[in-house]
Order: sequence, then structure tokens, then C-alpha cells
Amino acid sequence: MPTELVMPHEAVERFFGRLIDEGPVMGPRERVSQPGFIHFDWLSDAADLRLNYQTTTIPPKKAFFPPREVLFEFELTDPLKITAVREAESFTLVGVHPCDLAALRMLDDAYAREPAEACWPANRARARVIGVDCMPDEYCFCTSTDSCYSRAACDLFLTPIERGYLVEVLTPAGEDMLRVSDVSEATDEDREQAEAFRREKAGAMTARLDATPEELAEILESEEHTELWKEIASRCYSCGSCNTTCPTCFCFDINDEFDLGLTGGRRMRSWDSCQLAEFALVAGGHNFRRLRWQRVRHRWYRKFVYLYRTFGRPYCTGCGRCSRACTADINIVDVTNEIINRARERDRQGVQG
Ligand code: SF4
Ligand code: SF4
Repeated sequence: MPTELVMPHEAVERFFGRLIDEGPVMGPRERVSQPGFIHFDWLSDAADLRLNYQTTTIPPKKAFFPPREVLFEFELTDPLKITAVREAESFTLVGVHPCDLAALRMLDDAYAREPAEACWPANRARARVIGVDCMPDEYCFCTSTDSCYSRAACDLFLTPIERGYLVEVLTPAGEDMLRVSDVSEATDEDREQAEAFRREKAGAMTARLDATPEELAEILESEEHTELWKEIASRCYSCGSCNTTCPTCFCFDINDEFDLGLTGGRRMRSWDSCQLAEFALVAGGHNFRRLRWQRVRHRWYRKFVYLYRTFGRPYCTGCGRCSRACTADINIVDVTNEIINRARERDRQGVQG
């Protein structure tokens, strides 16, 4: 391992159909009420699977970290009765792009840090993952974040070639999924076609950051007080869409919901957003990031400085979702490059002066 095999076109639907027969499968499919809109959802028919799709609005992390979930139910008896509500069924997540695979590994690492979080690794352990390669649109910049060729966190990875898919078998679980499939050994020509696909992908990437992750972290650290944060904030609505669409955001909120009779209820966990005004509000009414520009700056620092310094890589995959989703048209690549260029220009003027 890894081994490279070929799954011909005619075997693809049969393969995914068998996975669906074996257990729950989540993958990209067209939303019934919105033709053309592709999202990750449970599949009951392999014919619904769309492996050739542009980045979804909501990332596949939702398979392991749902936007809203019940952690446990409680009854206000004496003693208090608590019943854990945890899914236990195994499932398969299919059709995950390289950038979203990279994000899964980032969340593996983030949630494993002490004090470790328990739900994410339990959900990850229930799932097999199949990745698939893709072509970028004008928002993608994964070549700048080292996520373009990620094979992290997946058992099989598919690359389109003339005969069907070149299948990289990356784990024993991946090997097991292929046990009764019509696959054959890849030839040099198949490998060359997969390589050509990757070259075409990188060549088609029009958006890119003008600095390496290390340079960017240093520049941001020196640009803490740039006026640009206020300029961006003057356009930002603090809607939080940039966070809720981000595959690497992992903050959540916890609330208890009571039944009408107040005899019990459930503890809920839901996605949170550092762009919302109350995110940094603490007891006593103090808000650590009361001003919008402070929250905008925090998002950049979180992605490219704090977590970069902690984990040695930016916590941004370059998927472009935040830019696509932003109602104020705030584009992460444009803003980041503006910060980089202003900092370099100031340095140049400093040297000349
Ligand atoms: S999506 Fe855009 S407008 Fe909404 S909080 Fe993020 S940057 Fe601001
Ligand atoms: S910050 Fe934006 S581009 Fe980066 S991973 Fe999150 S959604 Fe994707």
C-alpha cells in the first residue's frame, strides 16, 4: 500500500450501489428542491451520486460534526437521569475533494488537543472515506495552502482518467471496500493520465496567495493595527456565513433545551461563529471582540497565525467557500493579498526612506 487500480466507467455505479446496500453512504448529490445545487446528503441510489461537482456550499465535515446535534437527554429526577444520545452506525462518506480531506485531518488534530473533544473522533471512527479529484473554479486557491493534492483521512482516492477512475488504495479499509469490485491493475498510461489531470488542475488555478504560509503569518503579525481591518469591517455584516461554510472552523456552542413541562430536556451542540457579535461575550457583560473589525481580524489571525503557529500549517484549505458565501463580496484571497502588498510596499518605502 498504496496501490493503484483502475475502476472502469461501467463498474462505478455498481461499486457505489454495493456500498449503499452495505450501509449508510453520504455523498454529493443534487438537491431535490433545487436542481443544479449539489450538496452532501445521504444516498439511497448510486445513480444520484455526482462525483464531478464544484465545491459544495456546506463542507462534508457535517457528516462528523452536524450543524446541530443532541449530545444527551436529561430528566430532572432525583437523582438526575442522563441518557447519552450517540450515533453508533458505521457509514461511508464519498466524493470528498482533496481540500476537504485536508480539512478533516486538521479537525482531527484540533479536536485531539488537550482537553480533547470526544464526539469528533468517535464519529470519525465510524466512517470510511473516499476522496475524488476535482477542477478549480475562480475562488479555489488550494495550491497556496498545500491542500491541492491531499490524501489525508481517506481510504480510497479516485482520479478521473479515460477508462474511468484511477483508484489509490490507501488503507486496509479501502482495500476491503474493493474486495468484490471490477478493478484492474493501473498501467503507466493510466498513471500518466491521472498525473495530467493533476497538472491541468494546478494550471487552471487562477487565484493564489502572494506569500508562503510562513511569510503570511509573519506579515499578519506585523499588520495587527493596519487600517485595512476597519475598511473590511465597514463592508462586513457579521452574518457568520464565512464561518458556517468553512471546512476548518470547529467552534461550537452548547445549550440546554427544556421540554414544556420543565421535567427534562436535551443538551444541544451547534456550530458557532467568531464573526457574530456575542461570540466573545463572557460573564459580566465583557466582550473581548466587541468591535466588528476586531472580529474580522480575528478570523484572519485564527486561520493564518494562531493555528499555523500551533500546528505548523494554515487552517485554511483554499476551498474558497467563505468568498463564495459572503454577501458583502469579501474575498479571502483579495483581502489577504492586499494585506501582503501593503506590508511589502511599506517595507519598501521604509528601506528607501
Ligand atoms: S460572510 Fe462576509 S459579511 Fe458575513 S461575516 Fe463573513 S465576511 Fe462578514
Ligand atoms: S477560510 Fe475560507 S478558503 Fe479557507 S478553508 Fe475556510 S472557507 Fe475555505
